[in-house]
Amino acid sequence: MAEVKDKTEVQNKKMVVDEERCKGCGLCVNVCPVEIIENAEDRINQNGYHPAEIKPENQDKCTSCTQCYQICPDVCITVYKE
Ligand code: SF4
Ligand code: SF4
Repeated sequence: MAEVKDKTEVQNKKMVVDEERCKGCGLCVNVCPVEIIENAEDRINQNGYHPAEIKPENQDKCTSCTQCYQICPDVCITVYKE
């Protein structure tokens, strides 16, 4: 279930996508103010969609603004606080 949690629960990631629930709609990609979300080109989930992701090298650029979490229609994004 997507929700905002304390970042101490996960290492090196501020935003995490439940990839099997993602439908690749791209709303989170478009809303992110620092433009670090993309749809993974190299894999598809069980429903045939390219899931949203942030590449490891871009995780630190996330400001935990939660806009991606708020816009996702399928509630599959979790944002961790700083
Ligand atoms: S929390 Fe904000 S900065 Fe981080 S990935 Fe989502 S929209 Fe982008
Ligand atoms: S808004 Fe949600 S369903 Fe759409 S691409 Fe992003 S994570 Fe996937």
